[in-house]
Amino acid sequence: MVDIKSLNREELRAFIIEKGEKKYRADQIFDWIHRKNAGNTAEMSNIPKSLKKLIDSEAEYITLKSVLCQRSALDGTAKYLFPLSDGNEIESVFMEYHDWNSVCISSQAGCNMGCRFCASTIGGCARNLKASEMLEQIYAIQRESGKKISNVVVMGSGEPLDNFDNLIRFLELITDEKGFNMGERHITVSTCGLVPGIKRLAGYKKQLTLAISLHAPNDEIRRRLMPVADQYSIKELMEAVKYYYDMTGRRITFEYALSKGINDGPEQADELSGLLSGMNCHVNLIPVNPVREREITGSSKAVAAAFKSKLEKNGINVTIRREMGRDIDGACGQLRRKHLEAGFHV
Ligand code: SAH
Repeated sequence: MVDIKSLNREELRAFIIEKGEKKYRADQIFDWIHRKNAGNTAEMSNIPKSLKKLIDSEAEYITLKSVLCQRSALDGTAKYLFPLSDGNEIESVFMEYHDWNSVCISSQAGCNMGCRFCASTIGGCARNLKASEMLEQIYAIQRESGKKISNVVVMGSGEPLDNFDNLIRFLELITDEKGFNMGERHITVSTCGLVPGIKRLAGYKKQLTLAISLHAPNDEIRRRLMPVADQYSIKELMEAVKYYYDMTGRRITFEYALSKGINDGPEQADELSGLLSGMNCHVNLIPVNPVREREITGSSKAVAAAFKSKLEKNGINVTIRREMGRDIDGACGQLRRKHLEAGFHV
């Protein structure tokens, strides 16, 4: 069966024409799927019944429907748990700000990267998500919440550059001007630092924000936190990041999860400043969100503030990430994990 929501405009046209239909029908269907956000073919009011029937029998119209939605009592954050058709589950987070609504999507069911503070990776990666399943996290939240989504961060479970082709397909669909039409600048892709993937992505010259999960100022500390550091040194990572910047002109974001007693001292703040000095970048400090299965804990507010002010003194752009949804298992993979453990079946 054809996964119709993952087809780009040309592919959808080819599919529809092959069925003996006119090209404009494909454009109408694309419009229903990606701009009008139809929940099913029945909603496609200007499409003939026979064509809807054909789509229903020969294509898969992937939609997600949440089985759990946890709303934060502290802020506008809501975490959605979505079952996939094969029984896997993924989670997505909706965040509401003053003038924009953002969704944090998963790119894989689980993750293979093994970061030692992260819940998503505990059971490994079950599978890559299709482009349609990435899109649907946004479309479904828009349908369920009734709110227009303006931004997306690919920062949920999974390593997006480990699912490269589907990521590119997703990016091209979500930014299609005849579809959802999200601006590239409204998209952030976060990676643990897969060097070949960063270089490949640079080649597409997209205006999205690349976020690098750096988390350490040197290889020794990074290896304690992230197995990927055994594969690529910080030097190689920085070369790839500079290449990305040269190709796109986009300021780089570095994520730095402050882990108590591991990477949060004044020496590390100085070392990090040295590493990033002269780069057009921004550092996002995230106090580690404690995960039950993990020993690593977050730095105190005072330590985080001291780390931040040291970076500032050294001339580095830095913010402490606003913690959202701490009361609803905000950290990657926590909700899915809990759900799995509790033996929920969908
Ligand atoms: N694989 C990608 C995207 C998913 S993780 C990446 O590594 O960037 C998204 C961000 O959340 C990463 O910066 C990751 O290191 C961070 N993260 C994961 N678990 C966390 C936790 N328990 N506390 C704080 N940050 C966490």
